Amino acid sequence: MKPVESAKRGLQSLSPLSPRHRTAPSGGGPIEDRFTLSDSDRSDLPLSIRIPAAILGVFSASMALAAGPAPPTAHVKVQPKSASTVTEKFQAWALGRGEEAPRGQALKVIQEYLGSDFGQEMASKVVADFDRSLAQGHLSADGEVTLEGQLAGYEPFRIVHGERGAQASLNRIWMPQNFPSHFAASGQAILPVAILHHEFGHTKYGTPAGPTDVVTDEHGSRLSVDHELEIVNRYENPVRLRYGYEPRHSYHNHLGEKAENPR
Ligand SMILES: [Zn+2]
Repeated sequence: MKPVESAKRGLQSLSPLSPRHRTAPSGGGPIEDRFTLSDSDRSDLPLSIRIPAAILGVFSASMALAAGPAPPTAHVKVQPKSASTVTEKFQAWALGRGEEAPRGQALKVIQEYLGSDFGQEMASKVVADFDRSLAQGHLSADGEVTLEGQLAGYEPFRIVHGERGAQASLNRIWMPQNFPSHFAASGQAILPVAILHHEFGHTKYGTPAGPTDVVTDEHGSRLSVDHELEIVNRYENPVRLRYGYEPRHSYHNHLGEKAENPR
């Protein structure tokens, strides 16, 4: 298949928000996604000003879908508590503690994410994993790793504060306290909730990088920009489209390497 065809095929498979298939976990440690947000690009404008009211529409629409039509008969099936339980458990277990606690805008973005259907779907995977770890005795009810868990080498998933922008490894997402308004290299607008979904794409709950997605040279190891663009297309762009943003058409890394979608 020619590269262009391959890229187009990638684009066509954008619409589903959940990955259709997962590549085998690489098991290869935390190759971080250096999605670095340039300080020089930072805008003082609160994001709420830029984000169109469409968001509210999207949310209310997805909530309405989740709640479904009103039950016609006396057999009222109350919407299962699962949605709130997933959110509550996620907030209790999946956020870093102490110095690692996500803060500022990151908290709002996480909240926004948990209010969306794609966020709930991802959070459900995380919570199911925590439930298993709880049952195995690796995790305590308050989300701390037990001694047994430590001995077993259990590492809980966490979203933590990141000083260097948004990044992810298999078990961890770093979220900055503030998001700039635009990508430094492309000038396209940043949608933070889409960034969070992108980062989830790098975790074990998304589409972890395989060995061929990692480049190692004199600059060290990093994810290839082609793999990054795949994550953009599979996770970030569907969310951007939902919110009325144009899809991100390129990925640039800190070394100046870039991958672009055909236009
Ligand atoms: Zn990435």
